Amino acid sequence: MAGTSQPHVVVIGAGFCGLAAAYELGKHGIRATVLERDADIGGLAGSFKVDGVRLEKFYHHWFTNDLHVMQLIEELEKQNQVLLRPTRTGMYYANNFFKLSTPLDLLRFSPLPFFDRIRLGLLALRARRVQDWRALEDRTAADWLRAMGGERVYQVVWEPLLRGKFGDVAEKVSAVWFWNKLKLRGGSRGKGGEEQLAYYRGGFAALADSLAEAIRTQGGEVRTNATVSQLQVDSGRVIGVVAAEEAFAADAVIATPALPIIADLMEAHVPGEYIDQLRRIRYLANVCVVLELDHSLSSTYWLNVNDPGFPFVAVIEHTNFEPLATYAGRHIVYLSKYLPETDSLYQMADEEVVEYTLRHLIRMFPDLTRNWVLDAHVWRAQHSQPIVECHYSQLIPANKTPLDAFYLATMAQIYPEDRGTNYAIRQGREIAKRLIIETYRNK
Ligand SMILES: Cc1cc2nc3c(=O)[nH]c(=O)nc-3n(C[C@H](O)[C@H](O)[C@H](O)COP(=O)(O)OP(=O)(O)OC[C@H]3O[C@@H](n4cnc5c(N)ncnc54)[C@H](O)[C@@H]3O)c2cc1C
Repeated sequence: MAGTSQPHVVVIGAGFCGLAAAYELGKHGIRATVLERDADIGGLAGSFKVDGVRLEKFYHHWFTNDLHVMQLIEELEKQNQVLLRPTRTGMYYANNFFKLSTPLDLLRFSPLPFFDRIRLGLLALRARRVQDWRALEDRTAADWLRAMGGERVYQVVWEPLLRGKFGDVAEKVSAVWFWNKLKLRGGSRGKGGEEQLAYYRGGFAALADSLAEAIRTQGGEVRTNATVSQLQVDSGRVIGVVAAEEAFAADAVIATPALPIIADLMEAHVPGEYIDQLRRIRYLANVCVVLELDHSLSSTYWLNVNDPGFPFVAVIEHTNFEPLATYAGRHIVYLSKYLPETDSLYQMADEEVVEYTLRHLIRMFPDLTRNWVLDAHVWRAQHSQPIVECHYSQLIPANKTPLDAFYLATMAQIYPEDRGTNYAIRQGREIAKRLIIETYRNK
């Protein structure tokens, strides 16, 4: 490692971006060392075990149009591990459940008058036809959605979703962010117009493992419990990092954690204005409750909750997507809440969070009793969703930094798409290719 003459790059973070970057470097003969703070790899797509089987801490699926991840899976010769399945989407509104998987479901969506149902359907189609996202950069999602579908459609369908996800900053979210959601989810469909989503045999963790294995086969290394605490800088150039009290020399370093973490690492070495720029992008945290139940709640995979009195934006019954048998017959339900890290729910003890969750869930599903709960888990992520405001393109820091040989490749730089493992992989591979040209080929 330190002191060898073989090309060597350090990658900070073993989420999908960091792993993809290291894999791409290895493909080009550059040895990569991935240093990960946590005990496991996978980052936000990391997992825990349910009855010995790995499951994402935060619900995860792919859309059928997530081509970057599919291409990587093909390179790893793991195509047979991809599971493509139809899924049911629904909405909870005014104490009722509505199916919303197909165009026909939309036509039957009784909370809206018939004319507004048509407007809602047309809005989704029109959104998918928008070619140039730049035209939407100066508009908020709220303003754009109101203009396209009218006030009533906005109030019934979009406002609760925006508020449920972004809370007090909902009105600031850019139309570009929402446009992408409509485009990607709306485009993830089978031939009959039904929604289709993809999963991976053994969960996202199994793909992360395959990537880590490929990196090791290429001669690289993936280290866990290795928090990078310091950059080593010589005359404005990063020459290595310190992690877990060990120094790792490198020709270049790619940093994939959230921008505030990178700002802390860079602070001693660059002007304050640059650090302010890194800290300008705000993030929401996430609390995700995972329930293991001995009964199913419903036949819907993804239930949007358009009820302001319910604290979670969606109820996701994972075992209506991945079969029950995978988890020894346990029904897996996720409840997710994006929130500022100062929110009382984020600070609550786990048992309190579970109790609070069940109280609300029982209102929705009156048959549910506490006896159904075989186990419950609470996961938190401090930097889980960058807040994509108007003119976000001007807030994003460049991949190249004021420090030579130090590159940023973070979730907050994914744009105009929203963050996701597919784009984390795209970004990781692109930054690796660029680094190779700038560090090794230009010499
Ligand atoms: C609730 C939720 C649901 C989601 N659902 C989906 C979905 O359905 N499909 C999908 O594709 N995506 C989904 N995502 C998004 C997806 O998880 C992320 O976009 C993706 O995992 C980001 O990967 P990354 O490598 O860029 O960042 P991260 O996964 O955040 O990786 C960064 C890594 O850096 C590590 N790190 C931080 N500081 C240090 C340090 N000092 N030293 C060393 N390591 C450090 C972190 O521990 C982490 O492992 C979801 C996210 C959330 C929060």
